[in-house]
Amino acid sequence: MRFGIRTLDEVQVKGKTVLCRVDINQPVDRQKGTLKSVNRIRACVPTVRELSDKGARVVLLAHQGSDIEYKNFYTTRPHAAVLSQLLGREVRWVEDVCGPTAREAIRSLKDGEVLLLDNVRFCAEEQTLFEMKLRLSHEDQAKTQVVEKLAPLADLYVCDAFAAAHRDQPTLCGFEQVLPSYMGRLFEKEFCTVSQVMEAPDRPCVFVLGGAKISDAFLMMNTVLSRGVADKILTGGLVGNIFLTALGREIGKGSVDFILKSNYGEYIDKAKELYGQYGERIILPVDLAWTEEGVRKEAALGAVPAEIAATDVGHETAALYRKAILEAKTVFVNGPMGVFEQEASEYGTKEVWQALADTQGFTVLGGGDSITAAEKYAVTDKMGYICTGGGALIRFLTGEELPVVKALRHGAGL
Ligand code: ADP
Ligand code: MG
Repeated sequence: MRFGIRTLDEVQVKGKTVLCRVDINQPVDRQKGTLKSVNRIRACVPTVRELSDKGARVVLLAHQGSDIEYKNFYTTRPHAAVLSQLLGREVRWVEDVCGPTAREAIRSLKDGEVLLLDNVRFCAEEQTLFEMKLRLSHEDQAKTQVVEKLAPLADLYVCDAFAAAHRDQPTLCGFEQVLPSYMGRLFEKEFCTVSQVMEAPDRPCVFVLGGAKISDAFLMMNTVLSRGVADKILTGGLVGNIFLTALGREIGKGSVDFILKSNYGEYIDKAKELYGQYGERIILPVDLAWTEEGVRKEAALGAVPAEIAATDVGHETAALYRKAILEAKTVFVNGPMGVFEQEASEYGTKEVWQALADTQGFTVLGGGDSITAAEKYAVTDKMGYICTGGGALIRFLTGEELPVVKALRHGAGL
């Protein structure tokens, strides 16, 4: 038991039918019918292999895409082929989630065999419960079709989908109401790592917050500052620009227009408030960069031209941040320092990401673009921990109990 949740060390799975929810949601090439990345499939291999090696009859449940990114809504068939290759053993697949075909396939499983069901979000219940559209209690989620049809065929439930731990949906929170429940190895690793950062980080603990997902950044800043988790927050990207604007610093009309155009105006007041309360721990850029006809320009604060749109932090800021990161014992990172996709505005991100690679401190990196930046600068292997779940990680750092964590704690008592 760790953090109130049972682990796979506490169960005998031989001959048992295990429903195992994974998050293998990947970008899809619809034209070719293939996956553009297989990171998340690779990440859940240890759990699937362990269950199969121990003689469980493994039934995998997974989603692919959502109504927000409809282009990505797709069958899990290609995932089965990739998983089979990574596992080096057959992974069966059925074009069904909880109908007669799926149930027959589950009943026919032999010890050690692995079956992947089709996209659980093809079930209306899973889909309509997505996010806020319809809120069902966890008890009511246990009465959905998918849980009522599949749970009687299974002995236990394993959740290995930490990346989806902030979702309140039947295949994530419903089975825990009726089956003894456990977290898989990936879930255990991710949840325990981030819990450690939150509860007892080695100090100094530095947060690096940039990028463009402003609501997430502000949601968690308050928590990590008020609870004393963060000794310092290094700001960059739009996060930095919003703080600078809130403090009345001149950062160029284009920068402010971008904030307003993105509907982030309300965060200027929040930034003012946060800075008023915790200003000594919130570190702001001292210089900014922008692009003129493809050429990078920089200026110290106070000398930033009136019209520009800042797309990166400057050299001075990058050097300051590098120093703070090298001195830190724990570094949590979400969001790049600038528009790193373009050469003229990549310097800040490149330099800071290199510092993450060089520091002796333990680094935790989350967020799609932050991970892309780590890949671009070839520092992925140097990170202490790369979290597969961006949204779940942020939601966790805001201090709220994640729905799946709550459900697994309930399922630990069954
Ligand atoms: P992550 O995916 O790591 O959570 P975000 O999605 O929050 O990060 O932010 C990444 C995006 O932010 C990148 O596409 C980057 O170009 C953009 N970005 C960073 N700095 C700026 C800036 N100053 N102005 C506009 N966009 C920015
Ligand atoms: Mg992103």
